[in-house]
Amino acid sequence: MYKSDFPLLTNHPELVYLDSAATTQKPNVVIEAIKHFYENENANVHRGIYKLSENATDLYEQSRNTIASFINSKPENIIFTSGVTEGMNMIAWGLGEEFIETNSDDMLLMTSMEHHSNLVPWQQRGIRSDVKLGYVKVTKDYRLNLKHLHEVVKAQNVKILALTHMSNTLGSISDLKQIISFMRKNSPQTLIVVDGAQAIAHLPVDVVDLDVDFYAFSGHKIFGPTGIGILYGKSYLLDRLYPIHTGGGMIRTVEKAESTWAPLPDKLEAGTPNIAGAIGLGKAIEYTKHIGIQKIFDYEQELIEYFITKANSTDRFNLFGPNNTKDRGAVFSFEVDGIHAHDLAQLLDEKNIAVRAGHHCTQILMKEVLQVPATVRASFSIYNDKHDIDMLFEGIDYAKTVFSS
Ligand code: PLP
Repeated sequence: MYKSDFPLLTNHPELVYLDSAATTQKPNVVIEAIKHFYENENANVHRGIYKLSENATDLYEQSRNTIASFINSKPENIIFTSGVTEGMNMIAWGLGEEFIETNSDDMLLMTSMEHHSNLVPWQQRGIRSDVKLGYVKVTKDYRLNLKHLHEVVKAQNVKILALTHMSNTLGSISDLKQIISFMRKNSPQTLIVVDGAQAIAHLPVDVVDLDVDFYAFSGHKIFGPTGIGILYGKSYLLDRLYPIHTGGGMIRTVEKAESTWAPLPDKLEAGTPNIAGAIGLGKAIEYTKHIGIQKIFDYEQELIEYFITKANSTDRFNLFGPNNTKDRGAVFSFEVDGIHAHDLAQLLDEKNIAVRAGHHCTQILMKEVLQVPATVRASFSIYNDKHDIDMLFEGIDYAKTVFSS
């Protein structure tokens, strides 16, 4: 489905691309929009009073509007970042003492399945502020352990809950609505920070309905360019967030002794932004909206079912992730007994099957839950089909024959 929209895939018809969790391929409309911008519309934004610059500003702001409506936000709550990593650092270092009190019994709570981008910034802020760090456990069937979350929340003064919407290693999707409503009742002082890097391209997200405090995602995981991402935040929080990047474009006044900040969203977008990237991301979101995120979700559920049926009937195949379609996305980590993950990935590459092997930036999860140093990960998007899954399992059979000879 939709393969013909993606030039890289039509230029490499032999390629079975199963690494969309790392980055998605880009549709023609996104590539063309970026090319068109540089060839016809390039100027800096928010600066010039000439037409070209005003037009570039309009395009940049239209893109913000498109992205805002995709997640049911207001445009001023949408901050352009370089990706989830930057968004999480902006929050972890920008929240002041009123949110995380130095040398107190405050706890910054993460989960054991967090990507390093939503873990290391909180860990480092915790160390710097001399507060406690906590990690919600993962169950044996690879889901967030809600019982453990409840225990921690009862026992600790949790100030931050930083959690992923969908795990980039396990594929598990957490029921944010249920978790957030539990937290509001039982831990009203907690800010909920969600890493939407994986979820954004696979399921509908409504930040108002979820009542989330911050939601971050990266453009390149949803058919957009690299180097551009989004941080959504509630107004009162973005207002109070200290801007960790200061300089041009984000100020109202500058005196020798002090400066004041521009209103949102400019306060949190210092310097010349990634204008072409923002426009490209806007096009990527339009493209996704045009297909329909629910349609994407439903289609991927079919792929998940097909993958799991195949996995269950394949010898020596160990899946690290939910073994059913319920609350999971099309990201599959696995090992094949007797073949190291890197060897398997290399043998699959011989058959033009692109998968990732390693710890997937989730070292805590690998050590604590999976107890393996590396897995192979195959991840799917709208341009994949059941034939790609067949090719993967044929590739695995091939690897087994290589290792048995
Ligand atoms: N969080 C998750 C769940 C991810 O999968 C990724 C990327 O792999 C990130 C965060 C980091 O995204 P970026 O490198 O675009 O900042």
